[in-house]
Amino acid sequence: MTVNKTGYFTHSDCRKHEMGRGHPECPERLDAIEDRLLISGLGDALDRREAPLASTSDIELAHSKMHVASIRGLGDELADQIAAGGSTYEYIDPDTAMNPHTWNAILRASGAVLAATDAVMAGEIQNAFCAVRPPGHHACRDRAMGFCIFNQVAIGARYALERHGLERVAIVDFDVHHGNGTEDILAGDERVLMVSFFQHPFYPGTGAGPHAANMVNLPVPAYTKGMVIRELIEQEWMPRLEAFRPEMIFISAGFDAHREDDLGQLGLVEQDYAWITTRLKDIARKHAQGRIVSSLEGGYNLSALGRSVEAHLRVLADV
Ligand SMILES: [Zn+2]
Repeated sequence: MTVNKTGYFTHSDCRKHEMGRGHPECPERLDAIEDRLLISGLGDALDRREAPLASTSDIELAHSKMHVASIRGLGDELADQIAAGGSTYEYIDPDTAMNPHTWNAILRASGAVLAATDAVMAGEIQNAFCAVRPPGHHACRDRAMGFCIFNQVAIGARYALERHGLERVAIVDFDVHHGNGTEDILAGDERVLMVSFFQHPFYPGTGAGPHAANMVNLPVPAYTKGMVIRELIEQEWMPRLEAFRPEMIFISAGFDAHREDDLGQLGLVEQDYAWITTRLKDIARKHAQGRIVSSLEGGYNLSALGRSVEAHLRVLADV
């Protein structure tokens, strides 16, 4: 059976998570994406679905029980603190906080990726994009950091392997920051190949040193432009992806490498995201029956984010 539909998984709970005035990882990011889908008419071409809540046992495919319990505990502490008239935020690190909606938001974010995985594996849809927040790729097995609490893409990859019985899953991370959390969780797991590029030296400072054989890390200097990135991808990612023959591809889709995004200093534009997505679709079509699940990571210039997600989705959905 051939299907040519793209799922769009999101939930209003993901909008309610919020970390204080002026924080770049803000609810308006999802509005910017929704606006572009509406203005362009692209939204009508997508199979829109509500993200369910992930179970903690699925979260624990990628995180320690201790981490999951400590985040749940922080959520309970926050509720007590608010009841006592205290602050409505609980800080996990200087950049990352919980509000009363965060627990549900993180379960929806993971739930989106897992439901998308189920729908793609069932052949109901060809591929999917999860418009969720908070992002996940800095979240390590045992700790939250850098706006991220649970690592939805790492959880999704493990879920595809453990619950759907796949043997080889690829993760592609094109966020401007190194996906140190995903590497922390999946380094040495030979069922997974992770390919990425990222600005270096830069937050979180990882990725450029020695690393496990299943990681293809491409550190690039600030101000690198899209054509150079494309060449690197062609030379370094594609042969590894071809040799690995993934049965499914997960994308940590961060759009903060866009030239207009002030949180990074790389020079990508919409057409680069479209090109990368096209190349990944080529691999997916050849080896993975077209299966791709993409999940939002960074992207903080609202206009550039909306336009870049549109470009990514146009290729995924073939419209
Ligand atoms: Zn980022």
